[in-house]
Amino acid sequence: MSGVPKKEVSHMKEDPFISIIIPVLNEEEAIPHFVEVVEGILEKSSCRFELLFVNDGSTDSTSDVLHQMEMSDHQIRIIEFTRNFGKEAAVTAGLEHAEGDAVIPMDVDLQDPPELILQFIEKWKEGNDVVYGKRVRRHAEGWLRRVTAGLFYGSFNLLSPFNFPSNVGDYRLMDRSVVEVIKLLPEKSRFMKGLFAWAGFHAVEIPYHRPSRSKGKSKWNYWKLWNFALDGILNFSTIPLRIWTYVGGIIALGSFCYGLVIIGQKLFFGNAVPGYPSLMTCLLFLGGIQLLSLGIIGEYIARIFNEVKNRPLYVIKKKREDN
Ligand code: UDP
Ligand code: MG
Repeated sequence: MSGVPKKEVSHMKEDPFISIIIPVLNEEEAIPHFVEVVEGILEKSSCRFELLFVNDGSTDSTSDVLHQMEMSDHQIRIIEFTRNFGKEAAVTAGLEHAEGDAVIPMDVDLQDPPELILQFIEKWKEGNDVVYGKRVRRHAEGWLRRVTAGLFYGSFNLLSPFNFPSNVGDYRLMDRSVVEVIKLLPEKSRFMKGLFAWAGFHAVEIPYHRPSRSKGKSKWNYWKLWNFALDGILNFSTIPLRIWTYVGGIIALGSFCYGLVIIGQKLFFGNAVPGYPSLMTCLLFLGGIQLLSLGIIGEYIARIFNEVKNRPLYVIKKKREDN
């Protein structure tokens, strides 16, 4: 790709600077524990670090908790959105404002085990551009969530032109050079895992067990997850849009052959043409297919509409006056 910045060998530095990006939405309970655990672990490494919290429009006391902690801890930085713009926007804001030689987005609920950070850094220092955590067992989640996740990864890999590792979330370490490439991508509907995979680079995986949430509740429900999966697939594949040419072609060919059969039956055997049930079935089947394909075209047009409007992905609140 042209315009890609030259790769700096940032991991050759003696005391590299690591940015941890943490999107938070109503996480007042989880933040203090998270900071304590993660700082404890990062202090074991020889790296300098920042904890860059992106407050994604929380309505509880998340903002106060963060500002209180920021006052006594210079490693904490805060970006505050004016409302909830979604986790993907929050991670994007984090990537745009992080200053580290390497960047790690992670959830605040400790479902991304912080012990892994040290292994991430080690692998990065060995020269890997991306080190990602791969969930080996999703036992903390229900079977429905596991099955739907499996279906999603399967269809994504079938439909998209590049490979996407399954059971891999946003939790990963990315070298500065990778972050710079992600920052160049202008699209508004952001499916971060897909963008990370699109960027390529040399990646290694570290398997881990994903525990349940430490505090609070998950912000996802099945409707949100469905839309997230749709975004993932439709943003990275045009196959759902193009497949209808072939489906239409096959149905047209099939009905032509069926027509020949009916004419043959009438001419040679004098059979009456089977009427109402077959007519109704064909009508409903074709009607259904037409609506489905129209719906899919609609999904793409909605995405084009979003891109064309070109609104900013998020709005940042003015910084609080220190008192
Ligand atoms: N989150 C966010 N904005 C949202 C939803 C979630 O910033 O609109 C944050 C949330 O505070 C947490 C992370 O994204 O730090 C992951 O969310 P959650 O644990 O609810 O997701 P799950 O682990 O269930 O996929
Ligand atoms: Mg979680």
